[in-house]
Amino acid sequence: MKKIDKVQQTDLTALVHSFQDACANKEYKSYVYGLNIKEELLMKYTSSLEDAFLEHQNCKKCKRLEECKNKVEGFCYTPQGKEKMISFSYEACDKKIEQLEKDSYKSNLELFELSEDIKNASFTDVYKDDKARLPILKYFKEFISEYQSNGKPKGVYLHGNFGSGKTYLIAALFNEMAKKDIKSIMIYYPKFLIKLKSSFQTNFNEQFDEIQKVPLLLLDDIGAENCSNWSRDEVLGPILQYRMENHLPTFFTSNLTIEELEKALAVTSSGVDKVKARRIVERVKQLTIDHELISKNRRD
Ligand code: ADP
Ligand code: MG
Repeated sequence: MKKIDKVQQTDLTALVHSFQDACANKEYKSYVYGLNIKEELLMKYTSSLEDAFLEHQNCKKCKRLEECKNKVEGFCYTPQGKEKMISFSYEACDKKIEQLEKDSYKSNLELFELSEDIKNASFTDVYKDDKARLPILKYFKEFISEYQSNGKPKGVYLHGNFGSGKTYLIAALFNEMAKKDIKSIMIYYPKFLIKLKSSFQTNFNEQFDEIQKVPLLLLDDIGAENCSNWSRDEVLGPILQYRMENHLPTFFTSNLTIEELEKALAVTSSGVDKVKARRIVERVKQLTIDHELISKNRRD
């Protein structure tokens, strides 16, 4: 018993010493005593408090979020005194909170199989050197004002060469709408279909429902998918039908003109069905106005 007491005593002395050593740094001392935590508790956490102190000092000197030196960018390791212990957590700094608030509109745009970078697309950055973009941008302006005055503007069937900036342009529009709190979904259609077909999706119906009903929808790169009866008649058909009946703006990008799309949709592994392809294309035409974007390939 005596032995154990002795060990505990030695441990305690070591704790006190290490705390006193740390407190030789006046800034550390004023930091820990400013936490409103009992001294006997502070002594037990010298090392973690030193970590928190360093992060706190980093924050004091920090001018921009990008310069953050803390372990987790935008967060500060922070102690909180409890009854018998100190707990530590990562708290978002003011700059991080400001950024999160500024970017909160981004959650209005949902992406399926597309890169998050697209959320930075904006009208101000759209290349204006190329006149091909101007009529589309003009239509987008009309679209925004008509949408806001409760009209029923049509989407765009935007076709043209690979890399001309079709997806980027529509992302810029959806981001603009997101800032006005309007929700949208962009789907990279060929990959989305593969996923839908190959996975044992338990939430298939839920996802399908969401896509049908979202205020703004982009089916990106339509015509590049491997068309099957299922994808044409069970997926695309009902989505377009619902959106048409409910006047929900729907956008498409494609490397194919609408006539080429009709041909592509007619051919499936089960044969050729021109009537069903025509029916889909009729819906696309009802939902959109046709625009071409031919431009140099901007992909590196
Ligand atoms: P498409 O959909 O026609 O194949 P993208 O929209 O993917 O072409 O554009 C091709 C590349 O060029 C992408 O990397 C995209 O980010 C970039 N890009 C296109 N338009 C712009 C723009 N206005 N400003 C900056 N980058 C752009
Ligand atoms: Mg694209």
